Amino acid sequence: MKTSRISEGILEHALSALTAWENDGVSLDDCLDDLRAGDFPAKAAVASLLFEYFRHKYFLDSLLIKHARKGKVNQQMRLLVSLAAAQVFFQTGLPWQSAVNIAVDTAKKLRGPGGGAFVNAILRSYVRDDSIDRAHIPADCPPLLQERWTAAYGPERAAAILGQFASNPPISVRLRPGADVSLLADCGPEPFDPDFDTGDFRFFTLNSTAGLFDNPLLQDGSLYVQDPATSMGLGLLESGPSGAILDLCAAPGGKTIMLSELAAPGAKITAADRSRKRVSTLNINLRRAGVKAKTVAADARELPFPPQSFDFILADVPCSNTGVIRRRPDVPWRFSKKRLAELAVLQHAILKSAVSLLHPGGTLLYSTCSLEFEENLGRVQLLLSEYPDLSLVREQTLFPTNTHDGAFSAVLKLKPA
Ligand code: SAM
Repeated sequence: MKTSRISEGILEHALSALTAWENDGVSLDDCLDDLRAGDFPAKAAVASLLFEYFRHKYFLDSLLIKHARKGKVNQQMRLLVSLAAAQVFFQTGLPWQSAVNIAVDTAKKLRGPGGGAFVNAILRSYVRDDSIDRAHIPADCPPLLQERWTAAYGPERAAAILGQFASNPPISVRLRPGADVSLLADCGPEPFDPDFDTGDFRFFTLNSTAGLFDNPLLQDGSLYVQDPATSMGLGLLESGPSGAILDLCAAPGGKTIMLSELAAPGAKITAADRSRKRVSTLNINLRRAGVKAKTVAADARELPFPPQSFDFILADVPCSNTGVIRRRPDVPWRFSKKRLAELAVLQHAILKSAVSLLHPGGTLLYSTCSLEFEENLGRVQLLLSEYPDLSLVREQTLFPTNTHDGAFSAVLKLKPA
């Protein structure tokens, strides 16, 4: 493919992903999965452009309001202009004149000469805007989240959480027991921070992804691309789970595989998830990792199992994902009080279902990748108030740093019969 065709393709693919993100309620992750499934050669460049767009969405939206009829522009042109502006301001590898020319050609293709003229005029007025200090445009996040974190954790920690938003996360992988790290030599693996206790789980940070996706360790399930924060909840357990184990929001299976490594001999694992599509991925990942587990596509609130039939339950619930904003920069833009309240209701229903499936004396491990009280300790406190036989063993909030994501976990125990 010619370079100019690729450059136009990058903008067009980013535009269609962003349109789906706005219109269909899909996540950036889902958009990137669809992109990976296609055969466009410059997938990484599309992803990088979308990351820059979301990290500076506030700035880009404000520019449009200032320069284009108070932002009253049709959706296609609005998104095209903002993506091209993200290239102009944040992608140093592309001269701004080329970014403008590519956007103008794309606009002409989509909406004729008028579209091209409009995009040209707007982008050139952005470039001429000398109120913009181009070397110091910070990443931005909606005020609601900044205010919440400042109120909950104080200004210093709130600034640190926000600071993570601006940076690219490191590539973290977990090597399963027995996997030979020397097979990863081309990726420059470095053992993960020794001050962070990942228990028996071995995590490495990679300096490059050279050959990673064809690496035999990945192919045979000995390596899983995973953040070290995912080990925190399992690290709170006193001993490996045994007996009948249920992972009730299991896909794509990262924690099911970890559970299988911790479980006592003879333990039987059941892994469920509401999404059929994600259960297919779960099956592929478990098969590749050689993990034996029964998988079920079912809603965790209505699981087809008799009451009290599990000794250990992991509830790694859907959440607002505010602990992983540097991996999912669209998360802050989906966050709202209404969405948070809806998630809390869902999480509570899943937890109640988990308690009903727990055998007396059994253990429930609750986890999220959220930093919000309502989804974390708030959920646990409400559950404890409703179930006097349930007690909190321990809980932990992990704040994101430049080496790992944020997460919350709580271990709860049901009184023996
Ligand atoms: N534990 C997984 C892992 O380690 O790979 C990640 C789980 S992810 C945080 C949450 C999962 O919950 C998603 O796969 C989603 O499909 C699933 N989910 C959402 N709502 C659900 C529900 N009502 N019942 C069961 N699963 C649900």
